[in-house]
Amino acid sequence: MAERQWEVSSTAPAKPVDFIREIINDDLESGRHTKVVTRFPPEPNGFLHIGHAKSICLNFGLALEYRDRLPGSATRCHLRFDDTDPTKEETLYEEAIKEDVRWLGFEWDGLYHASDYFEKMFEYAEHLIMSGKAYVCSLTDPEVKEYRGSLTTPGRNSPYRERSVDENVDLFRRMRKGEFKDGEHTLRARIDMASANMKMRDPLLYRIRHATHHMTGDAWCIYPMYDYAHPISDAIEGITHSICTLEFENNRELYDWVIDNLMEYAKFPSRPRQYEFARLSLNYTVMSKRRLLELVEGKHVSGWDDPRLPTIAGMRRRGYTPESIRAFCASVGVAKANSTVDMAQLEFCIRDDLNQKAPRVLAVLKPLKVVIENFPEADVEELDASYWPHDVPREGSRKVPFCREIYIEQDDFMLEPPKDFYRLAPGQEVRLRYAYTITCTDVVKDSAGNVTELRCRYDPETLGRNPEGRKVKGTIHWVSARHAVDAEIRLYDRLLSEEAPPTGKDSDFLEAINPNALTVVTGCKLERSLGEAKPGERFQFERQGYFVVDVKDSKPGALVFNRIVTMKDSWARAQKK
Ligand code: ATP
Ligand code: MG
Repeated sequence: MAERQWEVSSTAPAKPVDFIREIINDDLESGRHTKVVTRFPPEPNGFLHIGHAKSICLNFGLALEYRDRLPGSATRCHLRFDDTDPTKEETLYEEAIKEDVRWLGFEWDGLYHASDYFEKMFEYAEHLIMSGKAYVCSLTDPEVKEYRGSLTTPGRNSPYRERSVDENVDLFRRMRKGEFKDGEHTLRARIDMASANMKMRDPLLYRIRHATHHMTGDAWCIYPMYDYAHPISDAIEGITHSICTLEFENNRELYDWVIDNLMEYAKFPSRPRQYEFARLSLNYTVMSKRRLLELVEGKHVSGWDDPRLPTIAGMRRRGYTPESIRAFCASVGVAKANSTVDMAQLEFCIRDDLNQKAPRVLAVLKPLKVVIENFPEADVEELDASYWPHDVPREGSRKVPFCREIYIEQDDFMLEPPKDFYRLAPGQEVRLRYAYTITCTDVVKDSAGNVTELRCRYDPETLGRNPEGRKVKGTIHWVSARHAVDAEIRLYDRLLSEEAPPTGKDSDFLEAINPNALTVVTGCKLERSLGEAKPGERFQFERQGYFVVDVKDSKPGALVFNRIVTMKDSWARAQKK
């Protein structure tokens, strides 16, 4: 599959080596590592979004990049499901995540689950207990919080902190056997309740959850916490560089603590280290899975693959290409400070990619009938129309039929046009793309005064050349009425009408949803050739934007198209006004 190959759009600016690559280069040069093993560790509790794409491109991209420098087996990227919370996770999400990673063009060098290591993690926890590094705590959740102290005050030791090793081992084993209710006990690391880093104040390692897990079923009723499970999973898999987002900066000390205290006992194949990079944020949308879930479950959108969403599935259905998303991630780069990227940058990347890939065709979204009075009723003229503009080095064309009755866009006609309106108006001449010039001679209106039809005359001397002595400034698109194919077109726009969702209550962001994020236009008229269009095929509708045949709802004879992106950044212009 051509889409599998890693390629950054040729127009993406060349970036200097980022700090992650600098670290890896140093590690290889100093001999600290002879391998580059990364992982992408999604929690299967929702669909992936464009932020995850950044992490995917980075982790899988590194394994591919260093393949040039290191022997074959020395570079790997694992897909690991971080499935430590049985209450939120599902197989359905795992399947969706795998599909999305592959669609983005990557293949994992191993598929793992944190739950693969539950038995090992239990054994290691016992080892920590035996070495006095962990204890069973019987404080309630609120008590744990209270004992933890704050950023300015140290915490207090749990009254259970001095339990004997024997008692701890016994309690921990009975926790596993299911002798206790949820919340009755936890296993905590025995570190330092006065640490300046709150994460080091005897963090939870295990909690009791009587819940069925989608992989391990009812085998377990105690589940490890992320901060314990993640470093162990990394170390068991021989991960060398464990890359995560900045909000885990304070967790790094605990990550190292877990590894350091188990390294000798467990004989891990690598000593992984955690590195944090800036997460991707985009304006005019929401990205956290919690909010996306709320949109889906609250039926504010049609599902996880609704084209308004920044999910990979939504963007795929919207018509984005994997190449454009990878180019976008490359253009954003890998930084150490969080920032918000403008949606226009993503839109630029998809236009840039489709400019080279999407054949140009004619489609009328809001049709206005035009009768060309001097064109014979029965005639059809088949005109040559190239699929590509001059600056795209591709070949291919089709015939477009020209007839007495055609459709043009309602917006391309004005009864009383301003001076700089170069399209159609009473007495005004315009060029029809690939065809002749026409002049409007009469306007037909209904009883309410709406324009329902135009009467025009065409100039047979103007095919492929300008009329003598007349300047025709405007060119408009059109389709033959007799040959047109009907379609429904879904115009998609940004999910939010504001750059950032309002701060405040969690669901307040729902109020910022752009009511025009989806406009359904029916009765659109497409040129004949589009009758053959297949689901997933992308086109540029001249002057309108890029469109894709919807993969779910489009049927032969009842075509549905999605607008991927407009031709220009109309949003920026509208904002300026
Ligand atoms: P969210 O915060 O959107 O709910 P998450 O971080 O809980 O997502 P995970 O499934 O835990 O989602 O993420 C898997 C990986 O993707 C993690 O390594 C995480 O750091 C990375 N990731 C998640 N969101 C982003 C983002 N916006 N930009 C870059 N990487 C991200
Ligand atoms: Mg998470």
